[in-house]
Amino acid sequence: MNTKKINIAIDGPSGAGKSTIAKILARELGFIYVDTGAMYRSIGLYMLRNGVDSTDLPAVQAALQGIEINIAYVDGAQHIYLNGEDVSELIRTEAVSKAASAFSAIPEVRAFLLELQRGLAAKNSVIMDGRDIGTVILPNAEVKIFLTADDTARAERRYKELIEKGQEVTFESVLENIRQRDKNDSERALAPLKPAEDAILVDTTKLDLMQSVEAMKSVILEKMK
Ligand code: C5P
Repeated sequence: MNTKKINIAIDGPSGAGKSTIAKILARELGFIYVDTGAMYRSIGLYMLRNGVDSTDLPAVQAALQGIEINIAYVDGAQHIYLNGEDVSELIRTEAVSKAASAFSAIPEVRAFLLELQRGLAAKNSVIMDGRDIGTVILPNAEVKIFLTADDTARAERRYKELIEKGQEVTFESVLENIRQRDKNDSERALAPLKPAEDAILVDTTKLDLMQSVEAMKSVILEKMK
């Protein structure tokens, strides 16, 4: 592998497997993995805790002043800190997913995270996943992948994950949450979820995890030749 700094942008809807696959690839390639969804989730958690309504813009702006988000890597895994508290696990609930999606449509929230995300990519070779990485955050990324799968396949994966964590959810509620987030994320005016023009599409509906990793790896290695 060459030593030039390289950035890989992975975008796509919830549950397509972005973070699981990106983590594995980052380890294999020696890149830093940046999960931007975790940043939006941390903001969602803060807003929920403080009773801030996403339609109350002045309150959102005021709340942002009180938020500091940091990420650190412990044994290669990203941990996210909200005002010094490790919230890596607390942000993985359906309520926080919904809040993240609602607050992520607000321009001030996106601007707040843009610098943090670009700063990480400027200093390191990163695999960054999110919704607008290839289109807005890192338009010059060397590799851009749009990872997708049909919504039932994505809901099945998410459902399994949440049940394994001991959360009480039904498949129907997870599917509904995914559909609602797809709609919010792709219809919002600012930085909507869509493939960058130069992104390569990878559909994981019929692929298992290792097949998805291999599919992504061949796209990346081809691009980096
Ligand atoms: O990827 P994850 O499901 O953790 O993201 C949670 C929510 O954060 C998404 O539904 C989306 O609304 C928002 N998000 C975003 N832009 C990103 C990453 C996440 O708007 N780059």
